[in-house]
Amino acid sequence: MNRRDLAVLAEFIANQPGTSVRLLREHRDDGTGRCRRCSAGGQGPHYPWPCAMVRAADAAQRIEHRRRRPT
Ligand SMILES: [Zn+2]
Repeated sequence: MNRRDLAVLAEFIANQPGTSVRLLREHRDDGTGRCRRCSAGGQGPHYPWPCAMVRAADAAQRIEHRRRRPT
């Protein structure tokens, strides 16, 4: 996922209340440096953590924080 895709996904997540928190809760390091949630499917190895969803949810939280801040 490139930076632009990540930014689009972050924006999408930021528009769904509670989603970034839920994603960060679900996509955790499984203890071996891999995401316990993301895998290529089947019995294949899980993706290295932080996975794309964590990076997008992180960016979404920054967007949400900016929006909450009083102007
Ligand atoms: Zn993940």
